[in-house]
Amino acid sequence: MKCGRCGNEVPEEDLYFVQGQYLCEDCAMARQARPQACDVWAVRIATNTRRSLGQTGAEGLTELQRRIYDFIIKSGGASPGVVAEALGVSEEEVRRQLSVLRHCELARAEKRGDEICLVPWVKA
Ligand SMILES: [Zn+2]
Repeated sequence: MKCGRCGNEVPEEDLYFVQGQYLCEDCAMARQARPQACDVWAVRIATNTRRSLGQTGAEGLTELQRRIYDFIIKSGGASPGVVAEALGVSEEEVRRQLSVLRHCELARAEKRGDEICLVPWVKA
């Protein structure tokens, strides 16, 4: 399927349904920067990629992905901006890595008030 904003091909399970449009994660998060009262976030979760690789937990992550993962676990959830600042990387980079962490079922995006937070996959 195509992202309704940037037009990139995105696997269906990676699309977010935001304000009546299917968007890729980057666009969904970008849109989130402009708070809207009635966003609807329906997140479809991919489980196949990781399983097919036979990986579990934090195995197979890059160092940066692991640091983001650790930070999310320790903080119990933080916005991409906070994670980026804490780890000294760009917010864009954090968002890019999040899609990997999502595929690995390690972290996901969750809406908290007007903010999208990165949270551990399983709630503590
Ligand atoms: Zn997009």
